[in-house]
Amino acid sequence: MQYSVALAGNPNVGKSTLFNALTGLHQHTGNWPGKTVASAVGAFEMGSSTVTLQDIPGAYSLLAHSPEEEVARDALCFTDHDCTVVVCDGACLARNLLLVLQVMEISRRVVVCINLMDEVKKKGITLDPDVLSRNLGVPVIGITARKKRTLPAFFDTLQNALNTPPIQHFALPLDSAIEDAAAMVEEHLPNVFPVPRRWFALRLLESESFFDTYCAQAMLDETEKEKLFSPIQRAKELLHAQGIDDKELSDRIANRFYQTAQRMMDGVIVENGASYSKRDRAFDRILTGKYTAYPCMLVLFCLMLYLTIKGANYPSQVLSKLLFSLQDRLSLWLSPILPKFLHDLLIFGMYRTLAWVVSVMLPPMAIFFPLFTLLEDAGYLPRIAYNLDWPFAACGACGKQALCMCMGLGCNAVGVTGCRIIDSKRERMLAILTNVFMPCNGRFPTLIALISIFFIGAANAWVSALYVTGFLIFAVLITLVCTKILHKTLFRGLTSSFTLELPSYRTPQFSQVFIRSILDRTLFVLGRAAGIAAPAGLMLFLIANIDLGDQSLLAHMTEFFDPFARLFSLDGVIFTAFLLSLPANEIFIPIMLMGYLNLGMLQDYTSLSALGETLAAAGWTPVTAICVCIFTVCHFPCSTTLLTIKKETGSWGWTALAAILPTTVGILVCSIVTICAKILI
Ligand code: GDP
Repeated sequence: MQYSVALAGNPNVGKSTLFNALTGLHQHTGNWPGKTVASAVGAFEMGSSTVTLQDIPGAYSLLAHSPEEEVARDALCFTDHDCTVVVCDGACLARNLLLVLQVMEISRRVVVCINLMDEVKKKGITLDPDVLSRNLGVPVIGITARKKRTLPAFFDTLQNALNTPPIQHFALPLDSAIEDAAAMVEEHLPNVFPVPRRWFALRLLESESFFDTYCAQAMLDETEKEKLFSPIQRAKELLHAQGIDDKELSDRIANRFYQTAQRMMDGVIVENGASYSKRDRAFDRILTGKYTAYPCMLVLFCLMLYLTIKGANYPSQVLSKLLFSLQDRLSLWLSPILPKFLHDLLIFGMYRTLAWVVSVMLPPMAIFFPLFTLLEDAGYLPRIAYNLDWPFAACGACGKQALCMCMGLGCNAVGVTGCRIIDSKRERMLAILTNVFMPCNGRFPTLIALISIFFIGAANAWVSALYVTGFLIFAVLITLVCTKILHKTLFRGLTSSFTLELPSYRTPQFSQVFIRSILDRTLFVLGRAAGIAAPAGLMLFLIANIDLGDQSLLAHMTEFFDPFARLFSLDGVIFTAFLLSLPANEIFIPIMLMGYLNLGMLQDYTSLSALGETLAAAGWTPVTAICVCIFTVCHFPCSTTLLTIKKETGSWGWTALAAILPTTVGILVCSIVTICAKILI
């Protein structure tokens, strides 16, 4: 038998953890609401049946007030699942029941899965799932998704539910005026979806934006659309005549759900513990306290950077030696069988770029990301958003932007996609356009290398970490300033209030975090290196080796940009290297070395001091280093991020702005530094 099951639930209740435990896949998990912004699909075997499982983005309600809620609503109402499992947080069950009731209106079978039972127990709460099951009329099971041994009971419940005939859809009774209006619309709706037409009628009355989605899904042509549009208008007029405008309609429906959810809780809580644990309160007093929040953030980031810098040095050297000795072997093997140009193209073009990216990028990432994931799993990220809410609000944006910035630290493309957690379109645009100011993992190593060479000597990892933290602070300040400018010019509007739940602190799953973040990120980097850096290496090799007149294309480019770049303390080689590393920021330093040494192939710098000597010979001063670091933080995003921005904004215009804005800021700030340096030195 084949079954299709949807996994729905409020944000941060353990849906992805359950999804991963059931399917063996590795959906992103983390202790903050909003990290799942798109549906994932996996499968698992249950007895002799195969179950296809769809993990749906977290939503508090299907009345769709935010993009994720729209995704959740559409995934549930237009797809015919055999059953929907609603995952709930046992510690705040009443609030989770709002979604359960809404899902019961549109799903043929529902299983309520109360997760986080270990936390429920710790908080001294005792629940009776059987009472809840009786109240709701659907099966209810308690689990701890992190502990696989609790899953067999879940399988039994799901299997039983799938073996029983579908139940009558639940219909929340509403005021007679609303029921009449819904009935007026209902009779004009085609019978094409498995969901009761009354439900669609109510959503069409409530939300104007749902009209187009519905018509597209029901494949209505223009005439049919018009035929449907007029009864909706008449029904709305009827409601208005009774004093029920759009807002009042939504409020009344939401209130009725709320009252019913409260009623369904009767007798479910046998013993009530503390809702906010003493330990959480103590942590929050420090990590979100007025005077302690910011120092704690800085110390934590500095510590993470220290461990990254200190720990990555040695593995980087080992990897580099290994990969470059392999290069020699490959070269020996290929040179007799390939023409020289093709050999050089493959070995010095493709392989070298790949080896560079892997040896320089991988070790810092393999340290930084597990550490960052530990913070995420412990529940610290929403605290960062909470702490940064007031500066963002002062700049006309939303505190959730801080979460997108944190994601941008890993990869800006991921940060841009993550902006979907911001409900207001205006604030989402602000977050997307400024995400690139967060240095991603492709830019961190450049910062670390240049800082180590020019300011402190490679040995002192603590001072390096402090400087890199300084650049992080600079990145946050620039983000705030640009957000404010965009808010005052292109994106005027009121700042929306936002609710972001501060989840309980949870002990991170150390082994899971380390294994998953190392393996997943490693595969990601290797995939990216192969997919982007290797072809980019090929292209670079051609640019550096095809001559036009008396010099290579690369030399022509560097010569062309030189006078302009010198205005703000860069030079033609540096500027060209930034341009050519558009496919992946990781290859900036090797391209630059290729330009300086005029060697026609990527160079590996075997030690920081060797790199320092080359740069000094090319005329670099500390001011050049500062400006390159600034430009590393403030310049156009890589091609992957640009394509993601196009996808998210749907506009080439905004995508162009996302490239022009940081580059202009970079040139401006570097020019200011150049002028100051000229005055002072
Ligand atoms: P989602 O947003 O609903 O997909 O939630 P996730 O699966 O990302 O989980 C949110 C957080 O809760 C993560 O930090 C998980 O490790 C944690 N978590 C999930 N299930 C359990 C559980 O049963 N017990 C505990 N203590 N933590 C859990």
